[in-house]
Amino acid sequence: LKDTAVRVLSLFNEKITEKAIEVKMDIPEDLILAVDKDYVEQVLVNYVDNAIKYTYPKTKITISGVKQDNGFARIVVIDNGPGIPIKDQARVFERFFRVEKSRQRDVGGTGLGLAIVKHIVEGFKGEVGVRSIEKGTVFWATLPMCY
Ligand code: ATP
Ligand code: MG
Repeated sequence: LKDTAVRVLSLFNEKITEKAIEVKMDIPEDLILAVDKDYVEQVLVNYVDNAIKYTYPKTKITISGVKQDNGFARIVVIDNGPGIPIKDQARVFERFFRVEKSRQRDVGGTGLGLAIVKHIVEGFKGEVGVRSIEKGTVFWATLPMCY
């Protein structure tokens, strides 16, 4: 998981510098997913793209990976943006859903990213979720590990 995360982050180098975002990564070297790299990359690209897009300038985003004892690993991406209202949290994984459209006209997007993540993750019997209280957002996904 770690090398894929490093590679995905490098795709966003320019935006990260531009917004002066601090990136923290916490993924064990020996956390290996039993899923084709392209899928892992798609999940990470969408979560990380959102985190960078929505976090406030000069804030921190965190990407972590945790081994669970049920054979799945949990990938977690945390940002320090405006958060997502609780009433919308259940819907962000729907196709074309975007929170408060008017406010976000300046932030590009089609509202497909998270629907793709959910589709991929559930295809591997994993789960996705979001949590957001007042400030910042936590997105997570579980995917099967090799052991
Ligand atoms: P796309 O990913 O297709 O380019 P998008 O980013 O708008 O477009 P999703 O990634 O599916 O679409 O996200 C859906 C909506 O959820 C976003 O439009 C935004 O309103 C909200 N959202 C997603 N991630 C965050 C986040 N980290 N902080 C705040 N809001 C978010
Ligand atoms: Mg997106």
